[in-house]
Amino acid sequence: MKNIKKILALLLAAALVFALSACGSSNTSSEAEKTSLTVEDGKLIMATNATFPPYEFYEGEEIVGIDAEIAALIAQKLGLELEIADVEFGSIIPGVQSNKYDMGMAGMTVTDERKEKVNFSDTYAKGIQAVIVKEDSAIKSIDDLDGKKIGVQESTTGDIYATDDYGEENVTKYASGNLAVEGLKNGKVDCVIIDNEPAKAYVAANSGLKILETSYAEEDYAIAFNKDNTELQKKVNAALKELIADGSVQKIIDKYINAAE
Ligand code: GLN
Repeated sequence: MKNIKKILALLLAAALVFALSACGSSNTSSEAEKTSLTVEDGKLIMATNATFPPYEFYEGEEIVGIDAEIAALIAQKLGLELEIADVEFGSIIPGVQSNKYDMGMAGMTVTDERKEKVNFSDTYAKGIQAVIVKEDSAIKSIDDLDGKKIGVQESTTGDIYATDDYGEENVTKYASGNLAVEGLKNGKVDCVIIDNEPAKAYVAANSGLKILETSYAEEDYAIAFNKDNTELQKKVNAALKELIADGSVQKIIDKYINAAE
């Protein structure tokens, strides 16, 4: 009897060593092969692009904003530690697809094309594509955009719609909203198409600019997940539902948007 127990213990130990070594090798093989980190090390890794005030931007060394604060509350509810990765907007979806990041939260608009690549959470905010021009611009409404030079942030819906509607040759793609606005100030482009809240922040921070009254497109923001990670998607949706119901989400939005107006 004792021997059987010993053999069982040895087999168990061998199985454990095997399992651990298998884990080790998959971790070192490649970033792309990682399965969701969430369950494994208690972290929730959110990819964003922190040039998008008031949703995500730097305050000193720290990334703050509506998305950062909502994500922190979601992580708290899930018992996970939030880690924010600041990457180019166009790298967020590929990084979520390869499980480099657990989720993408970046004032990201739900589109049919993106839905083919990632799953989205429930919507937590609305966005509008706005047009920024110089105060003395000849562009008075979106009907005047034909043949004009349009600046956008690469891979955003502003980029996608403008390229579709006005042609690749009329659209200059910048790596960030900041650089697009610089392009407008320097006369490299005649306008910038970008989400309305960042547009307001850019106009407030730069003199001589204004936002056209007619907006370009209305959209829903949501959080992106790997298509295989429906468990995390469900948990985040449940947390989000509670945070919307108890007024926490509205409180954060008010802190960054309504209070500032
Ligand atoms: N809402 C836009 C999009 O999803 C822009 C997002 C952003 O620049 N962070 O494409």
